[in-house]
Amino acid sequence: MKFPNELPIPKEVVEIARTLEQAGFETWCVGGAVRDNLLGHANRDFDLATAARPEQVQELFKRTIPIGVEHGTVAVLDRNRQPHEVTTFREDIATDGRHAVVEFGVSLDQDLARRDFTINAIAYHPLKHEWRDRYEGMADLDRGLVRAVGDPGQRFQEDFLRILRALRFAARFGFDIESATWEAAKAQAHGLPHLSAERVRDEWSRGLETARHPSWLVEQWAEVGALETWLPEVAAQGGGGVSGEAVARQVAGVSRWAAIDRLEPRDPVLVTSYLSADPGATLERLRCSNADIERGRRVGAHRGPTPDPESPVEVRRWMSACGAAVDDLVAIAKAEGRGARLAEAVRAIRASGAPLAVGDLAIDGNRLMELGVPKGPKVGETLRALLDRSLEDPNLNTEERLVELVRSAE
Ligand code: ATP
Ligand code: MG
Repeated sequence: MKFPNELPIPKEVVEIARTLEQAGFETWCVGGAVRDNLLGHANRDFDLATAARPEQVQELFKRTIPIGVEHGTVAVLDRNRQPHEVTTFREDIATDGRHAVVEFGVSLDQDLARRDFTINAIAYHPLKHEWRDRYEGMADLDRGLVRAVGDPGQRFQEDFLRILRALRFAARFGFDIESATWEAAKAQAHGLPHLSAERVRDEWSRGLETARHPSWLVEQWAEVGALETWLPEVAAQGGGGVSGEAVARQVAGVSRWAAIDRLEPRDPVLVTSYLSADPGATLERLRCSNADIERGRRVGAHRGPTPDPESPVEVRRWMSACGAAVDDLVAIAKAEGRGARLAEAVRAIRASGAPLAVGDLAIDGNRLMELGVPKGPKVGETLRALLDRSLEDPNLNTEERLVELVRSAE
């Protein structure tokens, strides 16, 4: 493929580049948006790389946000207050596999040399419309290859996260990983435990969200050893699944994790909860939010056989027991090809307004005490008993009939 004459750079980005160039600082577009546009994927989020130092960028523009000044990154806000990342040409002078000490005052070519993969190291000049592709990223885009810039073993040692990034880009574009890059990734996987949980989590989540086939991504994490290191409960589960059906697929030669390709929505917390033998533990290790950990725990606690969708009573009891996990469990059942009727039944029950929790009852604890139920545990017990009856027959859920039930039980 030949380079196009021009890339559709948003005018706000061109303006920022012009300001920098007019002040004497060479400025190029580099990175994900250049790559995506060459692949024909719309992406207007162009990052700029410039010879200006962060403080010079901050001086030149009215509104900036120092998002990572020690690494050279300043966000410049356009007139609509939209941020555009501007990063100073930099070289990594010391690395420890997770952090880099950087030095400014280098050339574009040196800046391209520190980038991870050839497809991410193509530069385009937004004013002169020139291209710089010294690592043949364009040829790799054509061939569909993720290939490290420079010596792959050394590049992964500098930053082990690049191993996971390679898998993410390959999964997203359906690319192969060039063989030396892949061999080095496996050889350097011993460094994966040293990464921070947050960076690993972000790679895992973005990977699952953007992969053509998430199951393929999970296979690659397993193959390179990242699954065993960071998500051992997924590795142990060996294919996830509630029904054991996924294991049957493995025999048929389809990915053990094939069901996740059909999970809707493609939500990383849901996917992880589905795959893990202990979702709470996995999400905790990845330092997810408490809400996400809680959500995973609920899925773990309530997965198992789903009710007969033809029995509204069974479905109501199941919904009542599973609470906030219902939608996730329905999504899982659908992904496993056994949830369409269940989803329908759940929808119908919600539309009917049938009570599913004590709080949905037409009567509350105060009313029960007025009726003579003694203050204390008896109140809760009575409410649960009333809910139980109402799950059986939602028509009981009127104040009158519930009062009647309480009186008749005295
Ligand atoms: P995405 O679509 O995921 O945003 P991206 O290529 O833009 O893909 P970013 O993480 O936004 O990825 O990084 C922007 C650019 O910075 C990359 O294209 C790459 O050139 C460089 N880069 C990012 N992370 C690394 C890294 N860990 N090692 C080397 N270069 C990196
Ligand atoms: Mg990006």
